[in-house]
Amino acid sequence: MQMTNKVQEYGNTVDGVEIFKGEKIPVYNKYTNELIGEVYKADQGVVNDAVSNAVNTFTKVKLPPVDRSEILLQTAKLLEENREELVRTLVQEVGRAINDCNTEVDRAINTFTISAEEAKRISGHGVPIEGQKGNENRFSFTVRTPVGVVGAITPFNMPLNLSAHKIGPAIAAGNTVVLKPSEIAPITVLKLVKIMKEAGLPDGYLNVVNGFGSETGQYLIEDERINKFTFTGSARVGKLIKNTTGIKKVSLELGNNSPTIVHKDAAEIKNIAKLAAQRGFITANGQACIAVQRLYVHKEIYDEFLSEFIQSAKSLKVGNPADPQTDIGVMISEKEVARVDNWVREAIKNGAKLECGGKREGTAYYPTVLTNVNQDMKVVCEEVFGPVVSVIPYESIDAVLQEVNNSDYGLQAGIFTTNLNFAMRAVRELEFGGIIINDVSTFRTDAMPYGGIKNSGLGKEGPKYTIEEMTNEKVIVMNL
Ligand code: NAD
Repeated sequence: MQMTNKVQEYGNTVDGVEIFKGEKIPVYNKYTNELIGEVYKADQGVVNDAVSNAVNTFTKVKLPPVDRSEILLQTAKLLEENREELVRTLVQEVGRAINDCNTEVDRAINTFTISAEEAKRISGHGVPIEGQKGNENRFSFTVRTPVGVVGAITPFNMPLNLSAHKIGPAIAAGNTVVLKPSEIAPITVLKLVKIMKEAGLPDGYLNVVNGFGSETGQYLIEDERINKFTFTGSARVGKLIKNTTGIKKVSLELGNNSPTIVHKDAAEIKNIAKLAAQRGFITANGQACIAVQRLYVHKEIYDEFLSEFIQSAKSLKVGNPADPQTDIGVMISEKEVARVDNWVREAIKNGAKLECGGKREGTAYYPTVLTNVNQDMKVVCEEVFGPVVSVIPYESIDAVLQEVNNSDYGLQAGIFTTNLNFAMRAVRELEFGGIIINDVSTFRTDAMPYGGIKNSGLGKEGPKYTIEEMTNEKVIVMNL
């Protein structure tokens, strides 16, 4: 970091050295619009140096599992020690409410702690080939070895924990990393990079290149020396990465238009309505890939549920994200709030009823509830990525399962019911990577396998599962 006219500058990191050269990208406080930092853009030369160094470090600097584990644990400890600064930076650069940002720091601490544990138990398995005729004298097992260099690209909405989900497992598995954080909100991640150096991570294990996706990101995904790409972001960029990287390992964590079903037998309707409002509107101001977006409610409880849900939505406080009383801060940009507002207006024009919200103040968008929507409206069939939820009545189990599946996405779905048969039918028939029973689609704990199908992506995250994706499994056969 460098100080010029009180605006902090952040460089790219190659071999543990921060490089301050080239053009700068301004980073703003999303609530006050103040300039909070400037980040040097990595040109093709810097990206090339970062990857070369990651290749060399992987070959030359060995880091045994116990050391990796200790560094990751120390990172978790230092995240806790630096909590206040990290939360403040998140609030400023993402514009999310302070309580929500605190939760993200908790989760990042968890992600590094779990990665530290997993670093010590990476293993293959026995392969009983002697069970086949002619193999009586052979003995087989598998081992897992690191892939080499991991190229990681992360989004703006939860920059710290979503980067932790890539860096933690990559280091746990013994890989080196070249990371490109979101250009819109890179500073918290750049602080994490410093913390990891302080935690004892050898230089070159985590190189960072900053910049726009179409330039710096593109240089990275075109680099043939990277062994594995891991990306969290939009389906559009996910497809481009898959098409560009060819026969490489790729994990893609993409979007969703997250559904949750509330069946007529669900217990405690009022609490469910409150929870759905919190997870649809507060979690990252609705800018979360699993934030509740489509709420399917059985017609027998529809009126009661809707009135509770609207009441919960209206009770949320929109305002300054740095104020602990605030539930909902601001959206990431003027462009995004205008897009969300246009989608809401378009839905209303086509017959949707606005139950509450539908109002903006600067870049803050009020929690918005829509009814009388249909499948062709963008607020239903596309990913809103903002605080807008549609409440949709249904009559039969067959119909609701079909409607929930009528989506290009398939990340997570929630279902509230005390009917075990319905719950298990949903488990079998819903085309999603995760089915959350008696909770909303938004539930995620960092140890679980998380990832979608269809346009929601490829592969699973959660340190144990990410490590599987970031290692090569080799089979060993002994002829004895
Ligand atoms: P985005 O796809 O615009 O950008 C994500 C990252 O990709 C950024 O770092 C960006 O610079 C980079 N990028 C853009 N174009 C690129 C290119 N041509 N080559 C290489 N890199 C490129 O996404 P965003 O707006 O930052 O985040 C919102 C999206 O992320 C939403 O669709 C959301 O659902 C998704 N998301 C998914 C998850 C998940 O776990 N599944 C979590 C959070 C966000």
